[in-house]
Amino acid sequence: VGKAYMFMIRLKLPGGVLTPHQYLEMDRLCGQYANGTLRFTTRQSIQFHGILKGDFKTIIGGINDALVSTLGACGDVNRNVVACPAPLKDPARKQMQELALAVAAHLAPRAGGHAYHEMWVNGEKQAAPAGPKDAEPIYGPTYLPRKFKVGFALPDDNCTDILAQCLGFLCVRGADGQPVGYNLYAGGGQGQTNSKPDTYPLLAQPVCFVHPEEVVAASEAIIKLFRDHGNRADRKRARLKYVMKDWGLEKFREVFARDYLKTPFRPVVDAPITGLDLHLGWQSQGDGKWFLGLSVENGRVKDEGNFRLRAGLREIVTRVGCSVRVSTQQDVLLCDIATADRPTVDSLLSEYGIPRPEGLSQVQKWSMACPATPTCPLAITESERSMPAVVDQLEPILSELGLEQEPISVRMTGCPNGCARPYQSEVGLVGRGGTKYTLYIGGDSYGRRMNVELQDSVPIEQIAPKLKPIFAAFRDERMPGELFGDYCERVGLEKLKALAGAK
Ligand code: SF4
Repeated sequence: VGKAYMFMIRLKLPGGVLTPHQYLEMDRLCGQYANGTLRFTTRQSIQFHGILKGDFKTIIGGINDALVSTLGACGDVNRNVVACPAPLKDPARKQMQELALAVAAHLAPRAGGHAYHEMWVNGEKQAAPAGPKDAEPIYGPTYLPRKFKVGFALPDDNCTDILAQCLGFLCVRGADGQPVGYNLYAGGGQGQTNSKPDTYPLLAQPVCFVHPEEVVAASEAIIKLFRDHGNRADRKRARLKYVMKDWGLEKFREVFARDYLKTPFRPVVDAPITGLDLHLGWQSQGDGKWFLGLSVENGRVKDEGNFRLRAGLREIVTRVGCSVRVSTQQDVLLCDIATADRPTVDSLLSEYGIPRPEGLSQVQKWSMACPATPTCPLAITESERSMPAVVDQLEPILSELGLEQEPISVRMTGCPNGCARPYQSEVGLVGRGGTKYTLYIGGDSYGRRMNVELQDSVPIEQIAPKLKPIFAAFRDERMPGELFGDYCERVGLEKLKALAGAK
């Protein structure tokens, strides 16, 4: 008897969009071949955990039968392309979502497709791929130095954290609301490696402005620049962000415009990021239909006691026929719901014990955690399973201080790779070992600024007590309308450390 190998499968789901049939199939597959849960990710995808080796081919075949794919969800290629999931019928969102699909299709690995279908779908030899030189027209024979991430956002709704992406397109609208083009950002990324000081998270930098019809070609151009200039000698420094960091923005622009961009180089236009929407609750789509955004604690869709989120979502999608979109905050949007179906959905939420967003605390809604232990082999601490305890500690403190309505973002990961983007949140917690976390503070609610380290190796039970005096000072000293992260930035790290008793 061989070892009982267990696997994780991640979907490639550009923009996080699933038809009702596809969602129901994913639900069925997780019950039949995985651990009975679905996991919404911070890149708008879905992971299946706990798949035994013998079921591996069957479940990937089932995913393909539903016309969903896993191709390019991992590996040194472009990963899932993220875009604002809100199904609002404004022209900018519609165009962004279409472009996310177009970029994902254009950057999908080509030669691998043959092997993929031979291995996972029907086991038969496919048509022979083209010769090796033509097999991967974008990636070439050696693919990329490392993974690559693309995102789309709007200045007033940076819900995809585009400054955390290797390549970000920020939509610029004209006075009439029509999209006129995109500011192209490059070189963002979250991960770092302990004991390797030349690795660090970085925000993407503004490179140029492109017209909508140039977006796909520009994404190919950036990928090729990364393919040719990314560090292939040191995998820890193999991300595009280090090319940007090592060259500087001016050289990056120069090489990009001279050697890669096939369209005119135009300077970025003035379009600052000013907001971020979680897209929770009932909202009109603008076409006579509704969507409902539900906060999913750490993205885990499961049934546990009276809380039956997985069964409830399955029943809602079956009864109402709504499409499903996953957000980059690990939440879910149930879309295209007729006004007449809203009472059915509301009553199913109650029947299945699914909390409505208005019944949740702000800190719960603005929190995220990566899966970590036991499903991620890179984890050095708990994250998804320990984050609820941190939220439970923070909620009464924030209520006691009268700050329960503050949208304070708290993100946790089980290692420095930073899959839940903890280096941009107002409070960041990064696993250090055992039950200790590095505590970061002072990021920006809208994803425009990195946070800073407040203290290393903080035991989990001391996180809330360390933050309490800082929350109290924020309440007493904030300027009108000032958000928590902005307050921390204004008063400075020295004062925050003194308040927290941090060494
Ligand atoms: Fe990502 Fe690290 Fe969390 Fe694993 S433990 S999901 S690699 S951040």
